[in-house]
Amino acid sequence: MKKHAISLDEIGYGACRSVDEFEKVKRLGEGTYGVVYEGIDKKSKERVALKKIRVEKEIDPLSLATFREIHTLMKAKHRNIVKLKEMAVGRSIGKIYLVMEFCQQDLGNLMDHMKLPFTEPQIKCLVLQLFEGLKYLHERFIIHRDLKVSNLLLTDEGILKIADFGLTRGFGEPAMKMTPRVVTLWYRPPELLFGDERQTPALDMWAAGCILGELIKHEPLLPGKDEIHQIRLIVNLLGTPNKTIWPDMKELEFELKEQSFNRLRSVFPNLSEECLALLKRLLAYDPKRRISAVECMNHEYFSKPPHACEPSLMPSLKSLTRSSRTRSSTIDLDFEV
Ligand code: ADP
Ligand code: MG
Repeated sequence: MKKHAISLDEIGYGACRSVDEFEKVKRLGEGTYGVVYEGIDKKSKERVALKKIRVEKEIDPLSLATFREIHTLMKAKHRNIVKLKEMAVGRSIGKIYLVMEFCQQDLGNLMDHMKLPFTEPQIKCLVLQLFEGLKYLHERFIIHRDLKVSNLLLTDEGILKIADFGLTRGFGEPAMKMTPRVVTLWYRPPELLFGDERQTPALDMWAAGCILGELIKHEPLLPGKDEIHQIRLIVNLLGTPNKTIWPDMKELEFELKEQSFNRLRSVFPNLSEECLALLKRLLAYDPKRRISAVECMNHEYFSKPPHACEPSLMPSLKSLTRSSRTRSSTIDLDFEV
């Protein structure tokens, strides 16, 4: 942990503006690491998102997860990565807010409001942007480790932004050993479920495969209730893994059912051959054989019609509902400073 230490001054804490310089509009969400508010910069009148960082101890105001998020976002500059504009502070030390560009919706929230699934051109537009963002991260040795639809933001212009970097960590050669309990269960790759501690960018690619499946199905692809159920769902969809297709496969303490075939075609009866082929490569058991973000971008799925639509043709909450958005809540509207 020591080697990740960073001083508050290094991240410009001393020069941070007070959160009082932002007007709070509403609460957008809350997850594992903090509460997120929509706000307005009183000076520039710009709309922003403020993520309040949960602080565990006064002495150690920046928890490791917070540090990872700040560090990653500050380094990343890409259209498909949410932009960290600055940090703001509350009145007491350790009350920190990340000030980010504001995105009008996240993909999970948008899908909850859509009666019909995305069209194929819209799916291509979304996943291409996801792969571009992932290519940028993976080239910089950053693994996201918690990709899921609620961590993919979408602007009203249809630009997808990868967000929520609380779990990211750089990777190196040989693959770093990290705790296997990362990545929300439904998007967790087999290597982590089978107890392999080495983590590579391939784990984000598995999550991307689950996301592609979810966009097509309009519901989560592998919604496991616990780790064993998750493994069973994977085996049911993809067949039983073995040492031939996955030489580094670890032994499990329980028996898996024998199934020599995958069920992708019956789960996705209307899918084009190219899309099925891409899905298979994203959901490869062996992380070493799993497709990379760059390979995905060049996959024939994207060169065959129908082509990806323009981002401006993506649906938005605004276009779906004229009434007030249900994701916002009116409680707790005061900044705790
Ligand atoms: P957590 O670690 O708590 O999951 P996230 O960064 O994923 O935190 O934020 C939680 C939710 O807040 C997201 O799912 C999204 O709905 C909303 N949110 C986060 N960042 C932004 C942003 N920049 N613009 C708009 N909404 C955001
Ligand atoms: Mg999140």
